[in-house]
Amino acid sequence: MRKSIFGSITPTLSVLVLLIVAYAPLAAAAGSRSPLGSERARAAKPENDGKLRIIAFGAHPDDCEIRAGGVAMLWAAQGHHVKFVSTTNGDIGHFKMAGGPLAQRRTKEVQEAAEIFGIETEVLDIHDGEIMPTLENRKIFVKLIREWKADIVLGPRTNDYHPDHRYTGVLVQDAAYMVICPFFCPDVPHLKTNPVFLYFSDRFQKPNPFEPDLVVAIDDVIERKLDAMAVIESQFVEGGGSGNESRIPKNDRERAAARRRVRESFRRRFESTANQYRDKLIELYGEKKGKKIRYAEAFEVTEYGRRPSAEELKTKLFPFFEK
Ligand SMILES: [Zn+2]
Repeated sequence: MRKSIFGSITPTLSVLVLLIVAYAPLAAAAGSRSPLGSERARAAKPENDGKLRIIAFGAHPDDCEIRAGGVAMLWAAQGHHVKFVSTTNGDIGHFKMAGGPLAQRRTKEVQEAAEIFGIETEVLDIHDGEIMPTLENRKIFVKLIREWKADIVLGPRTNDYHPDHRYTGVLVQDAAYMVICPFFCPDVPHLKTNPVFLYFSDRFQKPNPFEPDLVVAIDDVIERKLDAMAVIESQFVEGGGSGNESRIPKNDRERAAARRRVRESFRRRFESTANQYRDKLIELYGEKKGKKIRYAEAFEVTEYGRRPSAEELKTKLFPFFEK
């Protein structure tokens, strides 16, 4: 009986095996998360050294850098481990170039930024403008968080003008419980403790505005953060998808001038974050210091993942608020 069953399924199995062999290269390509910019990430094996482990997800190769480059440097300076993930490869984010060459260019830009920040970075090989909140992507996010053994996860809110930002936000939220479930993606060991999940700041008002729990002074690292902004030339010098020919520098002098403009415009932006959340800065740093802070980044704890006490948040997870 048993033999006859085997006999009857063997031809089907052989066809399946043939199909798998024939499509193996394609399957490998589809399953490989990141041919772009992953060497550094692969080289950085998580260690159990008692330091914090932070992973941030941004939709494009510049989002994490803008929203969290400063706090990343502050963590890194204390020996904590930070990784930025761009969930798309940015391959349509320019007015003049696109596809593989743009994805490679933008990967190099965030690698340069990561060198400045002293952190790891990875760019997923998903087309810009096309990330979807699928089961396949949920698994990728869960595995990245687990492999990094994250204590803290940062990502965008889902109120946003850009579909990639929205769906990156959804995917981070979708991972916020699944990372601790042992039988979801059992090939990567689940986390025993759920990380704390936080949102980057944004300006969207509906259905609810961003409300910061943490506003971090980045005065000590502002010049390096501006250096990093300036190396992301495809976006901030040349204008990305909404740029034009006149913005491409024709020589070193024009490039230096353009980079100076990028630095000044971001300087004003991080200054306005500090001014916007001045009350919170004073609450966190005390009256004297809080009033003097010039530049800041802000974060809101999500309702998903672990809910730390205010004390743990201020002293252990974001250990920057000496008064
Ligand atoms: Zn973006």
